[in-house]
Amino acid sequence: MITQQHDVIVLGAGLAGLRAAVEIARKNSEADIAVVSKVQLMRAHSVCAEGGTAAVMQPENGDSIELHAWDTVRGADFLCDQDVAMRFVTEIPGEINLLEHWGIPWSRRPDGRINQRPFGGHSFDRATFAADKTGFFEMQTLYDTLQKHANVVRYDECYVHAILIKDNVFRGVIVWNLTSGECFVLRGKALIIATGGACRMYGFTTYSLTATGDGMAMAYRAGLPLKDLEFIQFHPTGLVPSGILITEAARGEGGYLFNSQGERFMEKYAASKMELAPRDIISRAEMTEIENGRGYIEESGLDYVHLDLRHLGADKINERLPLIREVAMRFDFIDPIFTPIPVRPAAHYTMGGIHTDIDGATPVTGIWAAGEAACVSLHGANRLGSNSTAECLVWGKITGQKAAQYVKAQKAYADLPSESVINDAEASIFKRFTSFGAESSYVLKNELLKTMDTKAGVFRTATELEAALKTIRDIKQRLPLVKVMDHGHIYNTDLLNALETDNLIELSEVVVSGALARQESRGAHARRDFKTRDDANWLKHTLAYRTADGPRLEYMPVTITMWNPVERKY
Ligand SMILES: Cc1cc2nc3c(=O)[nH]c(=O)nc-3n(C[C@H](O)[C@H](O)[C@H](O)COP(=O)(O)OP(=O)(O)OC[C@H]3O[C@@H](n4cnc5c(N)ncnc54)[C@H](O)[C@@H]3O)c2cc1C
Repeated sequence: MITQQHDVIVLGAGLAGLRAAVEIARKNSEADIAVVSKVQLMRAHSVCAEGGTAAVMQPENGDSIELHAWDTVRGADFLCDQDVAMRFVTEIPGEINLLEHWGIPWSRRPDGRINQRPFGGHSFDRATFAADKTGFFEMQTLYDTLQKHANVVRYDECYVHAILIKDNVFRGVIVWNLTSGECFVLRGKALIIATGGACRMYGFTTYSLTATGDGMAMAYRAGLPLKDLEFIQFHPTGLVPSGILITEAARGEGGYLFNSQGERFMEKYAASKMELAPRDIISRAEMTEIENGRGYIEESGLDYVHLDLRHLGADKINERLPLIREVAMRFDFIDPIFTPIPVRPAAHYTMGGIHTDIDGATPVTGIWAAGEAACVSLHGANRLGSNSTAECLVWGKITGQKAAQYVKAQKAYADLPSESVINDAEASIFKRFTSFGAESSYVLKNELLKTMDTKAGVFRTATELEAALKTIRDIKQRLPLVKVMDHGHIYNTDLLNALETDNLIELSEVVVSGALARQESRGAHARRDFKTRDDANWLKHTLAYRTADGPRLEYMPVTITMWNPVERKY
């Protein structure tokens, strides 16, 4: 197989990957950098981020980094590592200013300074934004900045299938070029995995179709542990019936939630924060209202509540939430200036991911992970809105710096694994052409999505999770029988779907196993059969290691430096 080589391989060109690539290029102009993405660069899921990026930018008005850290720790239901939270809040204001210098059009206050809006679970208006297209403008700014560096080679529309590791040292990745159909080895000294989240394992989700957890799955197959994957965030305002996100900024700008009896029901669940309580609390409140007959009935079964923006007025909606208005009009044929929006909780964010330390380093020498693919342990059991794009920027920078330093010291490339290992990895991509079975990856995927939606959602029980695990394992058994009918190597989207489905199935087994084992309710993991948080037994991170019989679970302590867990009240 052909081999190309670069000092650093940045796997993923979303906010985390681009920020990492820019940092390496700035820190080490000698470093030869590859940026690999399975889609065109500006089509990474990060362009969908809408509402904002959290940072303390107004200390003179009473905000503080300690307050941002405390909000993050409390929002995380105390499963967040507190040294990580402090590093995060300390570094993110610098990133906001850096993007400003690189040309991002932040929305402004009347006096010309950067504006900030309220977001759920934050005690201060902290979400820095560019209308409701924040992710798009952040991506565009990083892309423009990356263009200034000559030492970056892009591999767009190249699917990475496997990570090559020998003697616990990174060696390279196996790549399938979707546009030419060729497979090749990309050899490197360092790898930064920035492949995003995995919530496409759910049917009702806010994610782009491409967010299939590939990086987490290939890391897991290569022997790296996944951390806290049972914690899946459900966003309270997924548009019914498509699941497209209605940003939290809609509530940040003053939107109300109503049940079918016309009540602003959040008063019963979080009287002080109301619609700006953390997402886990609002999602449970919505599902409780719906389950108790106070939702609106949808024939598809996606019963919903109303998000009402009418009182904000046309001017504010058009200035602050233009995308939301456009989405509601295009996909539901309603204009939020005149009509409430139908919403319900939608799978939105993977709190867990590839286990890293505070620098984003994984247990394998030469491999770092950043962004949603990673679990540096910032979000714990429940992420606060606007903290994710911020995390991508901070750990994009940190992992970029670390990788840049590392490759400077590595004079030579480490040996690749044997040819048979590489050939086997390539064969594992195309083996579906010769399968004797008649299973369809589309059918298996639909079974998976239905199972995850109905049995591993906002509320969970042992009975449902056991049933989900049984179905997932049954689907897993049928995977070798998947046959891909299109045998072309170029732009074979049937084959791509089969590979992505493998990844989602692998990861859903980890989500459900972790959720079944965790006999408590914490943050986004709400067990009907274990209703309260149990710090005595469960104040610990889950680590999942791959074995032939399914994930082996181990646990590690949470780092507590400032605040002992207390009851979470809003
Ligand atoms: C609709 C929506 C709105 C959101 N709004 C906000 C917000 O306002 N504020 C906030 O803080 N957070 C928000 N979030 C969360 C946030 O957008 C994401 O967590 C973040 O953008 C993830 O960035 P990332 O760089 O980790 O990954 P991504 O942006 O998902 O990028 C992943 C990259 O990896 C590449 N890749 C993946 N697999 C492979 C493979 N096998 N081979 C090659 N390349 C691969 C992809 O092509 C892509 O380039 C939102 C999420 C959603 C769903």
